[in-house]
Parts: sequence; C-alpha cells; structure tokens
Amino acid sequence: MLVDQLKDIVGPSGWTSDASDLEPHLTEWRGTWHGKTLLMVSPESTEMVAAVVRACAKSGTAIVPQGGNTGLCGGAIPDESGKQVLLSLSRMNRIRSVSARDYSLCAEAGCTLASIQKAADDVGRFFPLSLAAEGSCQIGGNLSTNAGGINVLRYGTARAQALGLEVVLADGTIWNGLRTLRKDTAGYDLKQMFIGAEGTLGIITAASLRLYPAVRNPETVLFAVESPDAAVALLAALRVELSDQLQAFELIPARAVRFCLKHFPSSRFPLDQESPWFVLLETSRESTGDDFESMLMSLHESALITDAVIAKNRSEANDLWRLRHSISESQKREGASLKHDISIPVAEVGNFIRVAEAAVTRAVPGTRVVAFGHVGDGNIHFNLSQPKDGSAAEFLAQGQRLASLVYDVVDSFGGSISAEHGIGQAKREHLVRYRGETETGLMKAVKAALDPKNIMNPGKVI
Ligand SMILES: Cc1cc2nc3c(=O)[nH]c(=O)nc-3n(C[C@H](O)[C@H](O)[C@H](O)COP(=O)(O)OP(=O)(O)OC[C@H]3O[C@@H](n4cnc5c(N)ncnc54)[C@H](O)[C@@H]3O)c2cc1C
Repeated sequence: MLVDQLKDIVGPSGWTSDASDLEPHLTEWRGTWHGKTLLMVSPESTEMVAAVVRACAKSGTAIVPQGGNTGLCGGAIPDESGKQVLLSLSRMNRIRSVSARDYSLCAEAGCTLASIQKAADDVGRFFPLSLAAEGSCQIGGNLSTNAGGINVLRYGTARAQALGLEVVLADGTIWNGLRTLRKDTAGYDLKQMFIGAEGTLGIITAASLRLYPAVRNPETVLFAVESPDAAVALLAALRVELSDQLQAFELIPARAVRFCLKHFPSSRFPLDQESPWFVLLETSRESTGDDFESMLMSLHESALITDAVIAKNRSEANDLWRLRHSISESQKREGASLKHDISIPVAEVGNFIRVAEAAVTRAVPGTRVVAFGHVGDGNIHFNLSQPKDGSAAEFLAQGQRLASLVYDVVDSFGGSISAEHGIGQAKREHLVRYRGETETGLMKAVKAALDPKNIMNPGKVI
C-alpha cells in the first residue's frame, strides 16, 4: 500500500497523519484555502524525495510540495479529496556550502530565507532577496514562486539569484544542475523552467545562489508625498542621482499606516500622518556625508516631497521597515481582505490606482483600498479591506467579481495579473483569460512534457 511504502521511505520521524500537526499545513496563511491529505511526508534528503516521487508516480498519486506555506495563492495547499500527498521540504534545511570568493552559496530547498541571508552575512556577503515572510518562507518556495520582495529594483527577483538547481523530476529522476557559473550557454537554460513553476513541473531540492558584496552604507529614508504620481516622479529623479544604488522604493498609503498603528500600537511612525502617501526608500551608497542631505533639500525645494526623515541608525531604520512589513498582518487583523498582486508599467502606477479604486468602490461601496508595495518595480499590492461595518462573508463573496474588475484595469494598462505571488489556485482561470491560448498552450505543452502523468501539484497554475 502506498501509505506504508511512503512511511518506510521517510522513516518514523518523516511523516504525520495527526490532525493537529497537519492543520497549519492544510490551511493557507489567510485561511482562504483549506485542504486534506493522504499523508504528509517530510523527507530529509534528495534521495528520499526521489523515492517518494517514484512511489507516487507508480501509483499515479498527486504530490503537493510545500515550503514555509506563506504563499498567498493556495499553491501549497492540497485539494479536498484527501488523496494527494503533501511533501514538506522543512527537514531539508542544510546550507551545503558557502564560498565568499566565488560569491555563491548552495542551500537545500527547506532553508528559510532568513537563514540564507545569515549564512551569506557570516562570510561578509549579501543575499538580497528579502520579504516580510523571510523568517518562515523557504528558498525552495521562493524559487518556485519567483518571489520578489523589497530589493528587486537593484538585484532582480529570485530568478536572478539562481545559478543552478537540483530538482527531482516527475518520474523520480534526480537532475543535478547545481552549477555556479555566471556564463553558460550549453543548450536550454533548464533551471528557468522550474523557477516560478509553483511545484507543477518538479520538486526543487537544492539551489546554488548568487551572493553580492555586503552593503556598506545603507541609508533609509521615509518621504511624505502627495500622490502615487509624485512617488513615481520622485523615483525617476532619484534614479538620476543614485543610479543602481537605489535598492528599495516602497509606496505606503496613509490608510496602511493607520492600520499598522492601530493593530501594532508599539510601532513608531516619525512623520505627520496627515500626508496621504509615503515612500520608504533604502540606498546602498558607496560614500556617506552631506551630499545626501543636500540632495534631499533640493527635492524638498522642487516640491516632489512634502516631508522626509532619514533614519539616524540601524535601529531607526528597522523600525521603519517593521512598519512596512506589518502592512499585510495589520490588514489581516482589520477584517476580511482581498489581495491583488499586480504589476504595470511604472509610469502608469498613479493612473492605475485611480481607475482601479474608482471601479472597486463603485462595485462595492465602502471597500477600503490599501494599494501599497514595490512601486519601483511597478508592483502594487492592490489589496481591498472589507467595508468598516459590513459583513466579512458578504465582502469575500464579491471576491471573483472584484478580481475581474481589477484585472481588467490591469490588462488595459498592459500589466500582469501576478507580479510576485504566482498563480496557484487563486488565479488559474484568470491566467487563461489574460494570457490567451498561444501562451497558455505553450505552458500546457511544457507541463505535458515534464509531467505526463499530471502528478506534480495538479490543479495549480494551468
Ligand atoms: C506577510 C507576507 C508578506 C509577503 N511578502 C512577499 C513579498 O514581498 N514578495 C513576494 O514575492 N512574496 C511575498 N509573500 C508571499 C510568499 O512569502 C512567497 O510567495 C514565498 O516565496 C513563498 O515561499 P514558501 O516557502 O512559503 O512557499 P509555499 O507557500 O510553501 O509554496 C508556494 C508554492 O511553491 C511550491 N513549492 C514550495 N516549495 C517547493 C519546492 N521545494 N519545490 C517545488 N515547489 C515548491 C508550492 O507547491 C506552492 O505552489 C508574502 C507572504 C506573507 C505571508
């Protein structure tokens, strides 16, 4: 029987069917999706993953890979059938090697993002991928969703950090592509197939990753601006001054600040909260000194900003980043919310927010728009909180309708319905609609070639 076979493969500490142990693995971070599983296995080596996959492939049993389960599209949650095997990568959490000289690191898929940042830091190097869930999300999940986060402006997404991968394929074969080469044009770049595939093509078991020089003089500044248009104009002006030393550029609406201060009363916010919008910026400049402050003075005079505060030390900077990272959690505590992780051309951010906000508040009066995020990448989390005194269930029931309205506006601006969170089960139907037959047809052909039995995370992405 498959269940007994899987238990034998992973050993007594490598599986669970206990309801309370399983519960956090079967529910999505916001509680939006819930599933059932035949068995959860937690292999501790690539060979064990391969043996699990071979056994499942033989019996035609579906496998759902799971990392930190912080994904927001339901990709890591099995369906309701109770017939799918949940495969957690959590026990594969070793850093296999770090080379300061090669500026590279090799980590198993279950390493948390924070542990990888630390391993790089320990040898005087920097791993730039950073997001609010970094204490729990895993590098395998980050690569499988092609995660973005706050430093994409300078360093690119998870895709740009991957030098090589080790993957267990859908028939249980292990592909070792753990090279650390900067240049390699020997045929198709196969690792790119698995990055952003959300576990539908294979299971990532390890990755070699690109490291960077440590950031020497980070500078964190909070600006008050009049509008998203002003934020975009500020970004354009700062890029002239700072070039690629501009590392993060985050848009924060006053409503998000209010939510954070309400639900995290110990938060510190050093600017007047009357401003409608704020921008949190981080630079990695080579030099320190007065030139930065004089640049800010000239920005003030040019009316691009209405106020600004520079963090005096790392502790003040951390306070500002904590606030930015609390937005999702505070919105969760504010009631039911609907998330739309989208991207559009940077110059259109202001127009997009105006048009989309008008559309959703017309459709469901009282909807509270919280549009925030990585504006430097044109990536807005166009999130909606339920009307203040309304019913959560009634608001959530409008989810598909509101999503279609938002995505139609995104499409009209030439944007993408998923910037960094992926498709999972949340946006599967929308993908077909907005990417069209040719593009989704190619995706289906790749899926059929790599997973002919459709056992790798079926029902997700396409
Ligand atoms: C508070 C908060 C803030 C967030 N901020 C950001 C942000 O700024 N930027 C951003 O990009 N995302 C953000 N996210 C979303 C989430 O953290 C990312 O999508 C993250 O990359 C998911 O990693 P995970 O390990 O939790 O993956 P999971 O949620 O476990 O899985 C995500 C998908 O990847 C698949 N998968 C997981 N591991 C593997 C593997 N080893 N091999 C194959 N497939 C696998 C799963 O099947 C699933 O389809 C945020 C989430 C939260 C809760």
